Amino acid sequence: MKELKYLVRPNVWNMKPYSSARDEFQGEATVFLDANENPYNAPFNRYPDPLQWKVKEQIAKLKGIKQESIFLGNGSDEPIDLLIRAFCEPAVDNVVSIDPSYGMYEVAANVNNVEFRKVKLDSQFDLDIEAVLSAIDEQTKVVFFCSPNNPTGNSLTRARLYQILNTFQGIVVIDEAYIDFSSEPSFLSELEQFPNLVVLQTMSKAWGAAGIRMGMAFASLEIIAILNKIKYPYNVNILTQKQALVMLESKAEMERQLRSILAERSRLQEALPQLSCVRKLYPTDANFILTEVTDANAIYKQLVEQGIIVRNRTNVTMCQGCLRITVGTPVENTALLEALKKM
Ligand code: PMP
Repeated sequence: MKELKYLVRPNVWNMKPYSSARDEFQGEATVFLDANENPYNAPFNRYPDPLQWKVKEQIAKLKGIKQESIFLGNGSDEPIDLLIRAFCEPAVDNVVSIDPSYGMYEVAANVNNVEFRKVKLDSQFDLDIEAVLSAIDEQTKVVFFCSPNNPTGNSLTRARLYQILNTFQGIVVIDEAYIDFSSEPSFLSELEQFPNLVVLQTMSKAWGAAGIRMGMAFASLEIIAILNKIKYPYNVNILTQKQALVMLESKAEMERQLRSILAERSRLQEALPQLSCVRKLYPTDANFILTEVTDANAIYKQLVEQGIIVRNRTNVTMCQGCLRITVGTPVENTALLEALKKM
């Protein structure tokens, strides 16, 4: 990896971050007259902990990593944007990613006026290493991979990700939003080995908390410090921090839901191919299934008419004729299967 100093944008490297009242005093006191807060309406009158230490303590315990290696944000969409802002000089640098994949990498690059280079997956929806490496040049500061990948559902071959980690001199982001549904191990255990690795996870999927907006980035202490330097001072509000803690403390409930979702995924994988409107099911390590159907637009519309919404991916690269179906509750999945039977 290049020295971090030469990867980070010079203005970001040289700037002094905003210092909030809550940064300057942490600890026990009885009278807080430092942050121009209203003294009434406790606890909502107070600014939240800017670095969310209680939540990080719990996540560190669950994942077996250091609290200082964790960045928490307003969904994983926040670290996706911050990584581009920290490392990519607008109109000069570029990011490389795969196609098809999660749409926000490209949106975040576009918002920041950073060139986005898409490399098509191979016919197995896997990384085409040669193509990725040839898309990378001196101005490539960040590469984004998503494994298990959205919308295809498969995990990228681990050995190929190692190849990139070992070759590329910039930042390698592996988005593991769906890792809890996968039998593949996380790349979290590789953080010590690869100083250029950033792993993204989220509470929006397996943890069942998309509404609270809690995304996680895991990386070296140095990379996390850069993200903290440029984030909004109070990027995760009190309500989210509180609710995240409550949910993280009920890991058993998350695991119970996970088992149900995985059992239902298997049921859908058995039932869907037997329907006449289903042409093909792609393998999945996530909580959704990409399926090729006889007429994606018509079937999508007919499902909507029955109040059942799936994601029509027919206009996405390599996904022609495909719907992406999220695994729901047993009742919801039965409703979907019953509706599809008649199409
Ligand atoms: N990464 C991937 C691969 C996703 O599919 C999604 C959401 N669909 C996200 C990140 C965003 O997650 P969050 O809700 O944490 O912003």
